[in-house]
Amino acid sequence: MTVRQEFLFENVIHSESRARRIRGGYGPTDLLASFEPSGLEPGEGPTRDPREYPLSSDHRDALNEVYELYRLPTKGFRLEANYYRYSGLTHTVRARGDRLSIRISHHFERQPQEVIKAIGNVLIRKLLRLPVRRKETSLCREAEARLAETLARREQQRAKEHEPSRHCRPPQGRVYDLEAMARELSERHFGGSFPMIPVYWSAKRAKRYWGKYYPDPPRIVINAKLDRPKVPRYVVEAVLYHEMLHHSIGVRTVCGRKRAHTREFRAAERQFPHYTSAEAFLMNYR
Ligand SMILES: [Zn+2]
Repeated sequence: MTVRQEFLFENVIHSESRARRIRGGYGPTDLLASFEPSGLEPGEGPTRDPREYPLSSDHRDALNEVYELYRLPTKGFRLEANYYRYSGLTHTVRARGDRLSIRISHHFERQPQEVIKAIGNVLIRKLLRLPVRRKETSLCREAEARLAETLARREQQRAKEHEPSRHCRPPQGRVYDLEAMARELSERHFGGSFPMIPVYWSAKRAKRYWGKYYPDPPRIVINAKLDRPKVPRYVVEAVLYHEMLHHSIGVRTVCGRKRAHTREFRAAERQFPHYTSAEAFLMNYR
């Protein structure tokens, strides 16, 4: 998801129908009571949208306060306020029939009460066609800017984690299934205790490596050149086993230098039964 300009607060408020059309009595408001009609558990009910879920009590109080401020009808009128899993920083208010519903972007779930109050004010004022006040708008904008930053950072992080997908193919290749192979190797050589990490085939035939281990986030990529019938199974296993060892042994710093292929590593590698013949095969394989 990208946080785009048009998701910003001002542009995404929809006010549908005017409040002056609303008929009903006036009195103290309780969003809680109206939000949980008898027999209906919060978050349940046949008509409930799964992207909607109940507000925290803090936020509910904040909106109750706003609602009372404008002396909006409460009798014979159903008030609803929920978080909604909008992809962006969107809030909506809608008055339809005997219902007035407010949806607060779930990204605002941990925002302070005053921000929710400001949002409530802006929404209700839009609905009533009253001028929106600068103080409240700027409070919303500030919160929004903070959240937009967090969302952008999260998005970057996610892109980083999914990076291999562009350069890699799923573990089930044309000939060999790397995931099944890794599970077998874990049973045979790690006593079943190898912490499973994603294993991929490279998208292209790599020139410089047979296998690669990335520690952050941990994953293994095997050269797609090895996914051919003429490559014996034990060769693919040897390469995969080597990369799995990197994950299980880790990188050691010796005299200030990072050493991955330590003596311990080499000894463990030789535990693999076809180690020498696999090496010999790869020496001559193009
Ligand atoms: Zn290595």
